[in-house]
Parts: sequence; structure tokens; C-alpha cells
Amino acid sequence: MPDELKSEPSLPEAAALDDAMMRRALVAAREARDRGEIPVGAVVALGQRVLAVARVEREATQDPTAHAEILALRGAAAVLGSWRLTGCTLYSTLEPCPMCAGAAHAAQVSRLVYATSSPKSGYAGTLHNIPADPRLNHAFPVTGGVLETEAADLLRDFFRDKRRAKPPESAPKPCPETPKSTL
Ligand code: ZN
Repeated sequence: MPDELKSEPSLPEAAALDDAMMRRALVAAREARDRGEIPVGAVVALGQRVLAVARVEREATQDPTAHAEILALRGAAAVLGSWRLTGCTLYSTLEPCPMCAGAAHAAQVSRLVYATSSPKSGYAGTLHNIPADPRLNHAFPVTGGVLETEAADLLRDFFRDKRRAKPPESAPKPCPETPKSTL
């Protein structure tokens, strides 16, 4: 057995580590919710070492790429001083979208763990499976369903509250870029 595999945690230990990392990601997801962002959080870890924790910051930054996974991957790469995150695990409270699954592929992470699947944007097994696409030059294993209920409840409650808070239907606002009528 190669030396590096001797220190691999046993299955119950690995599951406990996944739970612990997902709890960190869930804390970040709640922080996102408290700031009016979609409640998704992510962690990048190298074994037991947390390299980066991030939450969605799309509203705060008005950056369409400010998803939790992207920010966590960027943070981890900065800590390691390397874009290549081989050996790292990306944890996300939501199954990654096409962009984030693509970023995990680009970073060459060794594993992806997510809490709840995404029927409308999941690209790690639901709508498509980037981590397992044999045509791509890097494949990585995926574990879904870790602390699924907590993450799914957070998202469900967020969107329910958002719907309730929505003002009654009114005329759509013009796009700010639309030139004013010259009449
Ligand atoms: Zn994403």
C-alpha cells in the first residue's frame, strides 16, 4: 500500500469529516441568507485542513460569478499559491451549477461533496455530470446528500420568505439602459 494511503481515514472517520466540513459550509450559507443572498456556502479542504470558506456574494458584488464555490476555490488557490487544487475536496451546500462544476474541473479538485441536489442547475449528476464526463481530461468522485435536510430547508425557507415579501404585481420597471422616450 502506498504511504499516502496508509493515513487515509477509515470510512466512519471520513463521513464524520464530511459532516464537519459541511457544517462549516452551512454556517457560511446562513451568513449569505442573513445578507439577502441565496443561502449557499462552500469550503475547500485539504484533508482536515480548511483552506477556504465562502458564501454567495452575488448581490453584494453584482458579480455574476460570485457563487460560493468559485470564491472558495479562489481562496484555496490563494492559500496554496497554486491554481491546481489536486488533493483538495470542494464542499458545497448545493450541487454546483455548470460554472462551478466547471471551475472544480479546472482546478482539478480530487473530490466534490454536496448537500442537496439542484434540479434546475445541478451539473454534478442532476442535469449533467461534469465530474464524471469521460470526454473531459479530469474526473473526480462526487458524494451527494451530506446534511441534505439542513441545506434544503435553508433554501426552501429562503425562497418561501422571498415569495411572501414580494410586492403585488405591478407594471414592470423599465430597464435602466432603455433610452427615455423622446415624445
Ligand atoms: Zn455556481
